[in-house]
Amino acid sequence: MKDNAAMGLTVLQLVPGRDIATERSLTSPIQNKIFDYAEVMRNIVYVIADSDSKDCVIVDACWDVDGILSVIRQEGYRVVAALVTHYHFDHVGGAPPPPYDTLPIKVSGLSTLLKRLPHIKAYIHPLDVPYILNANPSIQTSRIIHTCTPTTMSLHLGTRTAIRFIHCPGHTPGSQSMLVNECRLLSGDTLLCGLCGRTDLPGGSKAEMEHTLRHVLGSLDDRIVVMPGHDYGSEWSTIGIERDKGCLGEDLVGYGYGATSAMSIAMMHSHPHTGGAHHLMNSDVKSDTQSVRSSIDTVRSTSTVGSGSGNDRNGSSWSLNMSSTLTTTSSNMSGGKKVCTG
Ligand SMILES: [Zn+2]
Ligand SMILES: [Zn+2]
Repeated sequence: MKDNAAMGLTVLQLVPGRDIATERSLTSPIQNKIFDYAEVMRNIVYVIADSDSKDCVIVDACWDVDGILSVIRQEGYRVVAALVTHYHFDHVGGAPPPPYDTLPIKVSGLSTLLKRLPHIKAYIHPLDVPYILNANPSIQTSRIIHTCTPTTMSLHLGTRTAIRFIHCPGHTPGSQSMLVNECRLLSGDTLLCGLCGRTDLPGGSKAEMEHTLRHVLGSLDDRIVVMPGHDYGSEWSTIGIERDKGCLGEDLVGYGYGATSAMSIAMMHSHPHTGGAHHLMNSDVKSDTQSVRSSIDTVRSTSTVGSGSGNDRNGSSWSLNMSSTLTTTSSNMSGGKKVCTG
């Protein structure tokens, strides 16, 4: 398995409350509540950069676009595209889902990013585009590129980095994973660490999720590093780990797998947050968890949040609890079912 530096690749993980969405507003209490909620949701925003050209893409820009762009400026990168794993509000921003869509709340996300950077376009699977336009009517269709068509199967960054879009329906109809240089998988909410995304939200399909896990992601190389859309106990995994102990193994696909076991798996290879955005995977990681840990470097000093144990997931302090559509894991954990989140 290749080394990030050898590939001229940098992958940053930005976590709300740690790297972004940290500034408290004196004038906007609603902004503070949104940032509090972002921290509870534990989304991970990714920046993938080509080290030679300094070109980068942002994956699932949400919660604090200005904070994300600030990190990118500090790193000296130039954003060339926005990538979207799926339509859910916590990955794209915009108006919150019903019944809260009537409230005067807009979360910074794709729409904000496209306004800030008029030269870029968003790469979205066509089946999720209608949901995104519905929640973000200000986004012009001319700013969207439909992925997974014969001419949009992949995106190139500089001369050495290739990002391949893989359609992974189940969590949403147009969920897509992004495979960077055939060895780093940004799996969105389809494959979390030890968990799979829930399938009971609009457009979700348990049957499609099973097919995706068994035959699409399940066919990938064990050595590929998995980088999920949320940190539910771990910020990384590998296809091999997921096949052995997570959602890709033959016996573990679908529901009915004990939540406690799933949780303990997620915890097993978790590591405490050290603060700062992380450069991921600078060494050969095959299944050597220690080498992965030692390859994560802090690139900027910010506040530290959480222990990685998941104890801060027991519900939101925000009274606007979007539990019907954006349930965090705590309630799902107690059901004795395979944990499906996102
Ligand atoms: Zn999510
Ligand atoms: Zn989701």
